[in-house]
Order: sequence, then C-alpha cells, then structure tokens
Amino acid sequence: MAKLTVKTLIEREAALLAREMALQAREDTATTKAELGTLSQAQLREVNERLIVATVRAQTMTESAEAAVAQMSHMATHDFLTGLPNRSLLTDRLAQAVALTHRHGKRVALMYLDLDHFKQINDSLGHTVGDELLKITARRLQACVRQSDTVCRQGGDEFVVLLAEVEVIGDAALTATKLIEAMAEPYLIDGHRLYVTVSIGVSIFPDDGRDIEALVRNADTAMYHAKKRGRNNYLMFNQGMNGHGVARKLIEEALHHALEQDGLVLHYQPVVNLATGAITGAEALLRLRLSDQSIMHPKKFVSIAEDSGLIVPIGRWVLREACRQAVEWQRSGIGIEKIAVNVSSVEFQSDDFLASVKGVLADTGLKPRCLELELTESGLMQDTDRTTDVLMALRDLGIGIAIDDFGTGYSSLSYLRRFPIATLKVDQSFVGDIRDDMNEGILVNAIVAMGRSLKLRVVAEGIETGEQLSYLKALDCLEGQGYLFGRPVDAAEFGKLLVARVARVASRDLSH
Ligand code: C2E
Ligand code: MG
Ligand code: MG
Repeated sequence: MAKLTVKTLIEREAALLAREMALQAREDTATTKAELGTLSQAQLREVNERLIVATVRAQTMTESAEAAVAQMSHMATHDFLTGLPNRSLLTDRLAQAVALTHRHGKRVALMYLDLDHFKQINDSLGHTVGDELLKITARRLQACVRQSDTVCRQGGDEFVVLLAEVEVIGDAALTATKLIEAMAEPYLIDGHRLYVTVSIGVSIFPDDGRDIEALVRNADTAMYHAKKRGRNNYLMFNQGMNGHGVARKLIEEALHHALEQDGLVLHYQPVVNLATGAITGAEALLRLRLSDQSIMHPKKFVSIAEDSGLIVPIGRWVLREACRQAVEWQRSGIGIEKIAVNVSSVEFQSDDFLASVKGVLADTGLKPRCLELELTESGLMQDTDRTTDVLMALRDLGIGIAIDDFGTGYSSLSYLRRFPIATLKVDQSFVGDIRDDMNEGILVNAIVAMGRSLKLRVVAEGIETGEQLSYLKALDCLEGQGYLFGRPVDAAEFGKLLVARVARVASRDLSH
C-alpha cells in the first residue's frame, strides 16, 4: 500500500513538471512571435539566440526532472544499501511470476535466506564491516541466478530469491546448493578473513501456498528448520514443519521465564582418567525446566537462545552457577579439580565476555585453574585477532581453554598453534565409530596422536562401551567421558558421586 502511494506521488509530480515546462515554452514562443514584426535585423538575431538558449535550458531541466523522478522511483523500490529490489518490488514480481504460471504451466520457487551468525560479525567488527558483507552477499547471490529471477533484500541479514520459471522442483534445490556454495568462499573485508554461511528455506507455488503471504511464511518456516538442522544448508518446505513457528515462540518464552523464575538447571557429567577410572573433573550441562516440570535438553533450545540473544544472560548464569557449585563442593571437602563450562560463540563474541568471567571468579572465589571453558571450532574462527587476544587474556588468568566437538567444525588446523588451547575434546561421533572393525576408529587415532604431539590434553567424548574404552586406552588417550562412566546428573546426585570417590580414596589409603 505504502509503495502505491509513493509511486503515484512520483508519477503525479512528473506529469505536473512536464506540463509546466510545455506551457512555459509555448508562452515564450508566443511572446516572441508577437514582437517579431517591430524588430531590426540585429534585434531579431539576438531574440533568436535567446530563444535557442531558453529551449536548451528547458530541455536540460526536463532531463534532470526526469532523472530525479527515475531516481526517486528506484529508491522507492530498491534497498538503499545493496541496490537490490526491496520487499515491495518483490511482491510485484512474485505476483507477475504467479500470473505467468497460468500461461506456461511451470512453477515458482521462493527461497528465504538468512545469514548464519551475522549478528556476531556486526557486533564484534562493527556495522561498516557488516554492511560491506551484505553488499558482497548481494552480488554473490545475483551472480547465481538468471536475469528473469529476482534477488531481494528483506531487511537485516535476510534475503529472498525468487525463481520465476521452475520446470521441476529439483531445479530449485540445485539453485539452493549453488547459493550455499557461493557463500562458502571467504570474505576479505577490511583486513579480516570472514567465513559466513547461509540457511535457506524453499517454498514452491502452487504446491506450498497459493498466495504470496503463505509462500513467504512457509519458506521462512523451512529456513528456521534449516537453521535448527545445524545451519549452512537448505530445506524444502513440507506441511509437517507447520507449528514450528509456534514451538519456537514457546521455547523463547520458556527461556525468558526460566531466567526470571529459576527454571535453568545444571547437570554434571564426570570426566575420568581412563586408566584408573578416577574422576578428574566435571562438565556442566544446561537443562531447561518447563512449567510442567519436564526437562528440555540444550539441543532443542540453545540455537533459539543464540538467535534471540538470550544466550548471553543464560551463559552468564551457567558460568556463575557452575563456579559457585564447584566452590561449594571444594569447601565441603569433596571438591573436583576442574569444572568445564560450555560457552556459545555468541557469548564469547560479546564485548564484555572477559570482564564477566573475571567478575564471576572474583565473586565466587573459584581458582582460575579450576575452570575450563569449552568453545567450538566455528565459534573461535569468527574474528581471529580478537579471539586470540581474549584467549590469551583468559590463559594469562590461568583459565583452561578446550575445543569442544573437535573434528566436526572448521577444517584449517593452523589455529591450534595460534590459540592458547589446553584441551581437545574428541567429538563423540569419532568415538562412536569405534566398533568391531578396528579400521573404523582410524580418525580417533589421528586426533589423539595429533593432540599428543601438540602437547594438548585429549578428552574423548561419548564413551559408551567397554570396547571403545579399551581401544582408547590402547591409544594412550588419557581422559574421557560418557555414559559408560556416568550420565549427566543434577548437583545433588553428582555430590553423592564425589562423596563416594572420597570414601574410596580414604579406604584405599587406610588399607596401605
Ligand atoms: P557437549 O558440550 O559436547 O556435551 C556433551 C553432550 O553429550 C551432552 O549432551 C551429554 O549429555 C552427551 N553425552 C555425554 N556422554 C554421552 C554418551 O556416552 N553418549 C551419548 N550419546 N551422549 C553423551 P547435552 O547435555 O544434551 O548437551 C548437548 C550440547 O549442548 C553440548 O554438547 C553443548 O554443546 C551444548 N550445551 C550444553 N550445556 C550448555 C551450556 O551451558 N551453554 C551452551 N552454550 N551450550 C551448552
Ligand atoms: Mg561440552
Ligand atoms: Mg562435545
């Protein structure tokens, strides 16, 4: 509606201008003609020259008026930053494309794209870098589609690609893959080498919606599912996805509620020495207690907390609570040597992360060497200069840094030398590969050997069977965690484990 008003205004303005100019030119000519009879040759020449000048000026004014009108019209239908069509032009194009399907019998695909973790880049490197990234993204997307297709910026880091003539649905999938590949190239901006991925949801006309609103809504829903699946992928919409928007909202509300009403809970899982079975530390794992007292696991809510920014206050709570609990156990004589806390990359990139860690240590009294922060590879690769500074500062305080889910993220390993890392946590998928066939565990071999040669502590995750344990012990992997030793349990249960451990050690000492 707003677009129609602007367009109408511009057209009206242009018409008025043109009419005014025509009138002026006609008046000038009439006056000149009336006076012509009484003029000498010299005066006639002068009048003639003036007429020419006036005509040229009128022409120039008409041209600049036309240019201004064209520019205003462009501005009303295009995004200021990237120059791409905006939402209102997309609506027009979508309507046209849908109308054309009646003639050629093909389909229309609508792709909803959202950059993954764009907010972090904007927050940590500033808006100029963020804006540049959006401009490059716009160019890359445009290079992937045909002239007849439309790439539009919806706002923020969201883009929509409209494929006007889709022969078979597979073509839309092919284009989505092409877009993902185009985005995977590193972005070189202002001396930073940035890696950005994109999540895409696709809806098809007429299969997934007969009106524009339904198509956009369903592509958006599919995009959220793609994010939930781990980002950097695309999903075609299906009816089963509906209701997800509602679920997402509900989880966000539950997280808000939990932050205010003590609904966040930490469970603890033992980390053990594989040779002796002794507990060497604990990992704090977050749970969300819902109003019906059921417990929700982090895989379901962490990405929602990250997208909404809620992960920052939630992460602060986790750190404070884990440190407080560790000190409580230490004070009662059943302490553990190390408490590991997971840190989301969104939290890590927040400006006052370092200050908040220092604050928590000061308030709780936990010794820095008793704390280990677990970060993922992709989280560390966002802004490597800043990451190095923050990690160095944490290391200088005495805090340990662990790479969580090692082997599943970023492919360059040079950062292992660059960052002050203490621990590699081998992702459970590699441990899960250890089965009867010994060849399957070959990646664990490589990771454990690499960790050892880099003088890092290696912790294997997800150990479930005795067979996996023997295999890891044979590799000289020193530490691990998994259901075989203990599932994550609440603080009271974990306290009992620690008491039993103290009792075991005491009885061993007595018998010696
Ligand atoms: P993670 O840090 O890699 O944690 C290990 C996950 O593996 C935990 O899942 C744990 O319960 C599970 N696990 C442990 N042993 C075994 C085993 O033997 N077999 C199998 N199949 N699984 C095992 P959980 O608690 O559901 O946490 C999932 C992920 O959520 C964590 O992976 C971590 O990335 C994230 N997360 C957990 N707590 C927090 C938190 O406080 N903050 C943030 N940002 N993320 C968290
Ligand atoms: Mg972890
Ligand atoms: Mg892990």
